[in-house]
Amino acid sequence: MKRIVSLLLTAALLFSGCARFPLSAVASAYLYQKPQSNHTDLCFSDLADASLDAEAEIARVNELLVRVQSEQIAARQAQYELDERIEAYRTLRTDAAIAYVRYCRDVTDSTRKQAYEMLSVAVETLGGLLTDVQCILMRDPALSEVYDAKARETIARASALYDPSIRPLLERERALIGAYETLRSTFSIEYGGRRWTEQEILSDETLSYAAFRERYDAYCGAFNAEAGAIYLELIGVRNDMARTLGFPSYAEYGYACADRAYSPADAALFSERVQRDAVPLFKAMLPAYFDAAGRLYGAVFSEELTEKRVQTALFELLPELDEPWTYMYAHEMYDFGVSETRMPGSFTTYFDRYGAPFLFTSWNDTYEMPATLLHEFGHYARYYFSGAAGDPLDLAEIDSQGLELLATAAYDELYGALKDAAKTAALFFALYTLIDGCAEDAFERYAYGTEGVTLDDLNAAYGQICSAYGLDLLGSDGRSWVQIPHTFQSPMYYVSYAVSMVAALELFVLSERSVPDAVAAYRSILFRDAGAALSDTVRAAGLSDPIDPETVTRLMRDLDERITSLDEMRKDL
Ligand SMILES: [Zn+2]
Repeated sequence: MKRIVSLLLTAALLFSGCARFPLSAVASAYLYQKPQSNHTDLCFSDLADASLDAEAEIARVNELLVRVQSEQIAARQAQYELDERIEAYRTLRTDAAIAYVRYCRDVTDSTRKQAYEMLSVAVETLGGLLTDVQCILMRDPALSEVYDAKARETIARASALYDPSIRPLLERERALIGAYETLRSTFSIEYGGRRWTEQEILSDETLSYAAFRERYDAYCGAFNAEAGAIYLELIGVRNDMARTLGFPSYAEYGYACADRAYSPADAALFSERVQRDAVPLFKAMLPAYFDAAGRLYGAVFSEELTEKRVQTALFELLPELDEPWTYMYAHEMYDFGVSETRMPGSFTTYFDRYGAPFLFTSWNDTYEMPATLLHEFGHYARYYFSGAAGDPLDLAEIDSQGLELLATAAYDELYGALKDAAKTAALFFALYTLIDGCAEDAFERYAYGTEGVTLDDLNAAYGQICSAYGLDLLGSDGRSWVQIPHTFQSPMYYVSYAVSMVAALELFVLSERSVPDAVAAYRSILFRDAGAALSDTVRAAGLSDPIDPETVTRLMRDLDERITSLDEMRKDL
């Protein structure tokens, strides 16, 4: 049993939501808003690797920028050329997203890795240059009907996030992220006369608990030292980037890139409330979770069976989701493969030019697969219906986490006899996500905001944060932050999981009262306009402002009532 508990703890620790295609370091939201309404008839394997010469395209946009700056071109002609270049940008973005998927299938393939790294820096560079052109053109009276007040504001915000002088820093950042990705996928230790990967340590049934612990501790310590060194350099590069662009801190810059309407200081107040009101409930649910996880452990969710059940459940809840689901399978716009050299984790990305979303995960037959699939499919459906990338993170994670929790109403279909245990686990993980989102954000604010920070400082701070948020009860210690890829790949991302989880949990509470009302609220979020703000979207769905600490307090009171009234969870509380 001790061994099963430690496996469960490790599984919990490794749970890290979904990593999105890490290309959001420079937001150029206005460039993404032209929706693509056609979905390609091609399959993923038919899509070309790279259809555009990235450096030639950058030169073309540079040349357009020079002509616009020196007024050698009439405004209307410049706008016409800009529209063509934005089309090319979409193609380049699509090339980069395709290259990323192919790289993720085997992160040890250095040709794929180089192709993706080159394209992702090119996309960010090109996005910055196009925004510079827009910045000049939007002030021209001849184009006042092209740029309304909202567009001008969006472009001005985006232009503050990039300057050509940060390109070498972006390149260094991308190389360091690549170094971490390779390390994470291939790291092993020498122990007792042989090499051990993490997976080998976790899955060797012949090890006693003590032997397992020794190996796992040695693994975690060695991985922390190597990944930690990469992160220290990333902190320096990112702080330089924020300083060059005139931001007071990297946290402020990261929040601006994520297009958030709230500041790191607002997030700190929100996090304090989560710590006060959500952590006690989380701790109280822990015995019920272990009980449920013990029952779910070992249940097999094969790909074929799960695919049918998820499709049926989705169709029962929101029949319109059948269209993107069928599209995904018919055009092979997914990859559920398994291999030792794959990028761990799950994500959904969007091939803008083809109007095709793509879902990436690694199938492992555990009870978590239906939830993983539902989470990613929430993103998939949003890309499919909106036809646009560039949603703010906090909203995108309501699409996914909202669908996961809404689906608890269809757990009969998804989990059969295990539905009560699965619901306990789902709610526990929802609370975990809310709390962990705040904890990781607090850690990142500390990391970027502490002058001369060392690895020992980082480990000590993470240990303190984990115990303050109750995460030490799940086995997190001061070293385990290096296991979270977002900290390296998508900085300042995590708080979005927490903020969007507040809205997703409100949907859950609503669904316990009335499934049709909860479905209507979710539908209103999923089918929001492109570029809609978080506050407007949740208000239109009848939900509360998720960043408001009072919402957290109210929600925890509602959840406490629900949890103590659910048979499954009451007996252990
Ligand atoms: Zn997600």
